[in-house]
Amino acid sequence: MTKEEALKTYFGYDAFRGGQEAVIDALLAGRDALAIMPTGAGKSLCYQIPALLLPGITLVISPLVSLMRDQVTALVQMGVPAAFLNSSLTFRQYLLALDRARAGRYKIIYVAPERLETEGFQSFARTADISLLAVDEAHCISQWGQDFRPSYLGIPAFAASLPRRPVMGAFTATATPEVKEDIQRLLELRSPLRMATGFDRENLFFEVRQPADKKAALLEAVRGRPGKCGIVYCATRKTVEEVCQFLRDRGVPAARYHAGLEAEERRRNQEDFLYDRSPVMVATNAFGMGIDKSDVRYVVHYNMPKDMESYYQEAGRAGRDGLPASCVLLYSGQDVRTGEYLITHGEAREGLDEAAAERLRERDLQRLRQMTGYCRTRHCLRQYILRYFGQDAPDDCGACCNCLHNFREVEVGREAQAIVRCIAETGQHFGVGVIAETLCGADTDKVRKYHMDREAQYGALAELSQRAVRERIRFLLDEGILTLSPGPYPVLQLGERAEDVAQNAPALYMRTMEEERPAAVRRQIPPELEGSQAELFQRLRALRARTARRQGVPAYVVFSDKTLRELAFVQPRTMAELRLVSGIGEAKAGRYGESFLREIRDFLER
Ligand code: ADP
Ligand code: ZN
Repeated sequence: MTKEEALKTYFGYDAFRGGQEAVIDALLAGRDALAIMPTGAGKSLCYQIPALLLPGITLVISPLVSLMRDQVTALVQMGVPAAFLNSSLTFRQYLLALDRARAGRYKIIYVAPERLETEGFQSFARTADISLLAVDEAHCISQWGQDFRPSYLGIPAFAASLPRRPVMGAFTATATPEVKEDIQRLLELRSPLRMATGFDRENLFFEVRQPADKKAALLEAVRGRPGKCGIVYCATRKTVEEVCQFLRDRGVPAARYHAGLEAEERRRNQEDFLYDRSPVMVATNAFGMGIDKSDVRYVVHYNMPKDMESYYQEAGRAGRDGLPASCVLLYSGQDVRTGEYLITHGEAREGLDEAAAERLRERDLQRLRQMTGYCRTRHCLRQYILRYFGQDAPDDCGACCNCLHNFREVEVGREAQAIVRCIAETGQHFGVGVIAETLCGADTDKVRKYHMDREAQYGALAELSQRAVRERIRFLLDEGILTLSPGPYPVLQLGERAEDVAQNAPALYMRTMEEERPAAVRRQIPPELEGSQAELFQRLRALRARTARRQGVPAYVVFSDKTLRELAFVQPRTMAELRLVSGIGEAKAGRYGESFLREIRDFLER
């Protein structure tokens, strides 16, 4: 079988994606490979196809015990003999699986890195014919990243202990130079093919918002995509709890996920999400590494992440099926200050001397600044991301909020001076509302009650609307020129540089948004299905749900949304036509082809 035949027969795809072929060729030719591809680019295929074509077994080392079952289920559905060995098996199941592995029943075996160190596994590995060692999430070997797994350091010794060192492939979505070097050096890869594919994900729409009320903005984002599957990332466990409860109170079927929950609840919530019982997952960054649910339609970041790597990896979990999906970041100045606090007050990594810890902190602050730059840029967001990862990109992608909006910069130095003076002169006792009313010269109960109309700054910004004054106050908060006191009734206080602003009114530039550009500039996205096609799509979805339930697997493992859409669009009548649809290989055609064809026929003849 050729690699093209394997692609069609098992996976049902017609063509390789960028980078896949070169990596597959290298591994098949016995050369190590280091593949750096963004989430959703199709890394797994790069080792799964060689696994099918090489004579022996492929071991896939993955840190994600909880996901192995799904990965293996998906492979078995496609007719690939696969298994996993990890702590979720009982000892008897484990021994049984090892026996079968010894008997050569599997082409692909997923193992957790810790497993490599056990005697039982080592004795199996010494006698087995292992052709390929695929190291997934290979950045876990590097102490530079947040996902460091000490047991990854044992992988090269394990490889060397085998009678014949297998070919090694390392896979990650993390692209920083330090991590790349660490992977190659620590895994002891031998002059590997280094493949880095383009980082652009064309189907993703990027958006940054700075809402006054994040919860309201989130609700709008979620309600605007009813029934669609989405992930909401929050910075802390506490925020996860709060936001999840908030959504549930408003009738959104949301589940939560963070490291503070019992393992059992985590597993259950994750499953509810995978099986579409809770289409919205509210989570910390503990959720998602290796989640390959392909129909996530949006990822909202409720807080700004700590760096661009984390952001792009998390946001990239949207739209893995290649269909349009959105990545929305809800930014506030507070996120930056929290990030800074965590870096400067966080616990230093174990075993680091003070100088090294200081260097690491400096680097983290630098990354946080770059992340902040993304939230504040007025230029194309996609270009910002791609340049960050060392790739050039055009000025206007037509598919991010900045390319669809015009921004205006206004100079607000004199207005800032009035605001700061007003706060200083009234003793830093008042909240945003009263200060804005005072500056606008409003005649309200509070203004009268506190005699604000006697203050020097009363009406100083009467030419602006209260909304505009609030916008300027928010800008000064972001700049750190003002701060808000903690507690239930936050009052405005003076921050650093406030004195300078009050005295000298230095020039300050605030970005403000203008109306949307005409829709014509939007990039062509695949059109929505129309009329009867949409209806058929819904019927096929229902059939998929029934089928999945009967088999006890998540719906996307049966067919992806993309495949269903294509089915609804093409409306195949025969098995041969059906096999032309992307995502339907031999095993799936055999297993589900008839029932899907029947559904289509019934629909067309009704
Ligand atoms: P990664 O591990 O790089 O994040 P995956 O391996 O999970 O990405 O692949 C993402 C999705 O793309 C999966 O649904 C996969 O089946 C699909 N895919 C991979 N390669 C191809 C291809 N050549 N043609 C079409 N779809 C593909
Ligand atoms: Zn853009």
